[in-house]
Amino acid sequence: MKSIVLLSSGLDSSVNFCKAVQEGKVLLALTFDYGQRAAAKEIDQAKKICEKYSVKHQVITLDWLKQITSTSLVNKNKEIPQLNKGELDNIERTKISAKNVWVPNRNGVFINIAASFAEVLKADTIVVGFNLEEAKTFPDNSQDFVEHVNASLSLSTFQMPKVMSFTQNLNKEEIVRYGNALSAPFDLMWSCYEANQTPCGRCESCLRFDRAMKGGQRAKLSSAFA
Ligand SMILES: [Zn+2]
Repeated sequence: MKSIVLLSSGLDSSVNFCKAVQEGKVLLALTFDYGQRAAAKEIDQAKKICEKYSVKHQVITLDWLKQITSTSLVNKNKEIPQLNKGELDNIERTKISAKNVWVPNRNGVFINIAASFAEVLKADTIVVGFNLEEAKTFPDNSQDFVEHVNASLSLSTFQMPKVMSFTQNLNKEEIVRYGNALSAPFDLMWSCYEANQTPCGRCESCLRFDRAMKGGQRAKLSSAFA
């Protein structure tokens, strides 16, 4: 497998990155800066992960996406929604939370950019960090989306790379176990929507990471989760 990996340094993309390294040659890892609050942190951590595995890393800056995105993930005048732990499985609550951090056609854009690189670098696979848990609230994380985007790429590129996620059918807890088995660099991951010294411990992404780490029986690494 010759792959391009979308690497944000979060749990899902980092574990997928490790599996892609194990499965073949990762030609390039891409991290996107679309003005998200955690951009600087994600770029730093992704760079460290790539250095650890000797994989070429490139940052793609999408100023236009920053300019047109009004939700709180990018717009610092708006509050990042905070959920209680008990609300993580409440589909109505998580749908509201998802709307508040939505970025227009984000995964569609990322994957199509990666497909251009795949065409030039002759990669056969684009590895993404999708999972079962978030596919429920983010339709652009679903298997259905993967199948449709692959059909589209078969017509928009000669290379016809296939998008895939090793964690498509796993929940976050299972992804932690999977990462354990791969000796994934948990200490280099960044899942928080914010870019403070330590994870905020209160955003939906932090809550999911925290729950997954506990469930996956992985030692907690940050004081925010103490
Ligand atoms: Zn957070």
